[in-house]
Amino acid sequence: MEKIYLWNILKGMAVTFKHMFKKRPTINYPEQKRPFSQVFRGLHVLNRDAEGRENCTACGLCAVACPAEAITMEAAERLPGEEHLYREEKYAAKYEINMLRCIFCGLCEEACPKDAIYLSQTFAPANYGRKGFIYKKEDLLIPHPVKEPEAYQKALGEKAALKN
Ligand code: SF4
Ligand code: SF4
Repeated sequence: MEKIYLWNILKGMAVTFKHMFKKRPTINYPEQKRPFSQVFRGLHVLNRDAEGRENCTACGLCAVACPAEAITMEAAERLPGEEHLYREEKYAAKYEINMLRCIFCGLCEEACPKDAIYLSQTFAPANYGRKGFIYKKEDLLIPHPVKEPEAYQKALGEKAALKN
């Protein structure tokens, strides 16, 4: 029996048969998605207040706290008539994060005194070019809560909803 490998074939088939009735560990991604852990740190979001004004005051604390030096920004003064756009006198005219440098540690979120940045539960999609990983302010800013309430709620994600 050993010579014709019959025993080993039967043993192998028994293993296969056993696994046919087990719960599959794989899922049909991307149709099915696994829920992220509560502590998952993904793509950054620049926050607005309830009226849709940008929270960020371009203080630079997030950039100082960033161990990967991934954040760059330029500050600007709010002009009269722009009170509906920016919450405080200063705002970030330019804000960029280099996702190729970022290690998603979350220190920028912790350093921010204005609740202006948080790491969401989405990850940066793949890209062929380096430029595609430089996220500008327009890419990071959360949708307007009054003008686009559904998109705003979606962008908040579970993590931010738990925080509020
Ligand atoms: S998550 Fe960490 S590495 Fe990424 S931008 Fe924030 S502080 Fe820098
Ligand atoms: S995100 Fe927060 S810490 Fe960073 S510049 Fe804006 S207000 Fe300051």
